[in-house]
Amino acid sequence: MSMLIGHDWAIDLLVQQQDNDHTPQSLLIAGPPNIGKSTLARFFMQRLHCEKIDAEKIDAEKTDAEKTDAEKTGAPEKPCNDCIACRKVLHGNHPDLFIFDEEGSLKIETIRTLQRMLSLSAVESRHRVAILCNFEQATISASNALLKTLEEPAKDVVIILTASDPGALLPTITSRCQILTLRPLPSKQVLNALQTHWQVESTQAKLLAQLATGRLGWAVRAIEDSELLTRRQQYLEDLLKLLSSSRTERLNYAHKLSQDVVKLKEALIFWITLSRDLLLIKTNCQTPIINLDWHDPLEKLSKQLTITQVRTMVSRLRKTLTNLDRNVNPRLNLEVSLLKLPFTR
Ligand SMILES: [Zn+2]
Repeated sequence: MSMLIGHDWAIDLLVQQQDNDHTPQSLLIAGPPNIGKSTLARFFMQRLHCEKIDAEKIDAEKTDAEKTDAEKTGAPEKPCNDCIACRKVLHGNHPDLFIFDEEGSLKIETIRTLQRMLSLSAVESRHRVAILCNFEQATISASNALLKTLEEPAKDVVIILTASDPGALLPTITSRCQILTLRPLPSKQVLNALQTHWQVESTQAKLLAQLATGRLGWAVRAIEDSELLTRRQQYLEDLLKLLSSSRTERLNYAHKLSQDVVKLKEALIFWITLSRDLLLIKTNCQTPIINLDWHDPLEKLSKQLTITQVRTMVSRLRKTLTNLDRNVNPRLNLEVSLLKLPFTR
C-alpha cells in the first residue's frame, strides 16, 4: 500500500464522519491521475476495519496518560497496521472488502460479483467496503447495475468510487455520492515526501517534484520505473528535432510512435509541459517553468518561434491528447498534429 501524503482536509473530513458514525455510504474521490485517490480510498477502507480504532471508539473515556499522541494533539488517528484486520487489509485478503483497480473498463460481471458479496452479511467487521477505481471507464451496463446498489444500500456497506473525470459518470451516480475532489499537492510537499519517505537524493528529488506537478504518485512511479526519465529525455529531444524536420520525417515519426498508444500518451504529456514552459519563457511570465533542466534549449528555441506559433503548439498537442481519449485513430491524429507544429527550418 502506498503512503498517504497531503490531502489533510479530506482525511480530516472522513475521519470526523467515521468517528461520529456519519460515514458516507457512497463516496466519490475525484482528481487527476496519480494524485492519491486510490491511496486515500485504501486508507479510509483500512480505517473502517482497524480493530484498534474500533476499540478506541468504544473506549472513549480515557485518562490523559492512556491517550496516544495523536489523541492528545487531536490529529486523526491512523489505522494501526498491526491488528489482524489491518494486516488482512494490507495483504488484500480481508473477507469484507472488494477492490477493483485493474486497467481497462469495469464490466457488469464485476458489479455482479460485488453484489453477490454484498448480499451476504459482514464476516469479520462492522463494515463491508468496496473500492471501484477509475469508474469513468465503467461500461454503461456496469454503471446502471451499480446504481441499483447505490439506491438501496445495505446499512453496513460503504462504496468508494474514484474517477479522474467525474463529468464522465452518470449524473444519477454522482448525485448519490459524497464527492471529494483532490487537488495537486504543493511541489514543496512532494519534494519533502520524496526526500523523507523515499530517500531520493536532493537534485533528483527537486527535478521529480517539479515534473510531478503536484501528483506524488507520478513521482513515485518515476522512482520505481528508472526508464521513465530516460524516455522523457528522448521524447523531449525528439520534439525539438521534429520542429526542424521535413514533412516526410514527421510522418515517419508519427507512424513509429503511434504503434504504442501508452507511449504516445506519455510522450504527449511531456511535450505539453515542455511547450507550456516555452510559452512561459516566450511571454516573459514570472511563473517558474516545470522542465528546469531544459531551460537553456527552451530559451534558444523561444527566439526562433513567434508567440502565435508557441500557442498553436500547446493547443495542438493538448487536442491530440484529448482526441486519443476519444478513440480517434492514433496514427492519423498524430500525423495531423505533427504537420501542424511550426517548422523552424
Ligand atoms: Zn489496525
